[in-house]
Amino acid sequence: MTPEMSLQTQKIIGADIIMAFDQCTSDSCTRAEVQQVMIRTHRWLKQSHAYHQQFPTSRYGAQQALFGIVQGGIYEDLRRESAQFVAAMDTDGIAIGGETIGFDMVKTVEIIRWIRDFLPANKPRYTMGVGMSPQDLLDVVAEGIDMFDCVAPTRNARHGALYSGEIVRDGHWLKFVSPHENGRIQIKKACYAQDMAPIMPSCECYTCSHYSRATLHHLFKQKANLFTALASIHNVHVLHDVCAKMRALIMST
Ligand SMILES: [Zn+2]
Repeated sequence: MTPEMSLQTQKIIGADIIMAFDQCTSDSCTRAEVQQVMIRTHRWLKQSHAYHQQFPTSRYGAQQALFGIVQGGIYEDLRRESAQFVAAMDTDGIAIGGETIGFDMVKTVEIIRWIRDFLPANKPRYTMGVGMSPQDLLDVVAEGIDMFDCVAPTRNARHGALYSGEIVRDGHWLKFVSPHENGRIQIKKACYAQDMAPIMPSCECYTCSHYSRATLHHLFKQKANLFTALASIHNVHVLHDVCAKMRALIMST
């Protein structure tokens, strides 16, 4: 695959936001490898950008926003160099990628702080792969991030890990407090077999309005397809709710 082929595919899909072709670096790479990959990613961004300027719309005629991706692994100087390079390309938005992002939240926040001064204030900032837990969204938005995406909410749901806690005010910001490890209950545990409470008492999703933990425990044990749908509805709803509360707080201040 080439950068041009990647862009062509995204134009056929007709996505509103399309990503420059990049290479994600693993945390186990050496500095020399990370640097080499970063240089390749920058070269591919130039090619992606040139192709997008030539063909700025999707196959269906709609304008598409192109985002460049900052790489550089866990190396401060490389991250800064990459952020400056991507910002100079004047893409519609800037993404921050790499294995660390969303996986190690302490490091994710550190990386955002390293490069924040290089990111244009008027363009959306997107951390790729953030969303393992509701708190992660709060942590990156507090650092000035606008967008994120992650497979974890539905993957956690399929495996019976359901977000349970409360979104509460914490000084000027919000936090997700939970008595459960990682803010999730493991619905397969025997302690939920007769628990008639909803997954998360304050949640207004369809699942919490209609099903108890006991029913969900039973559906999980039966490997019922219905469980996957109900669990995913809940986990995605919690993240939407976190976003709605962050948005309301930002708009009010
Ligand atoms: Zn719910």
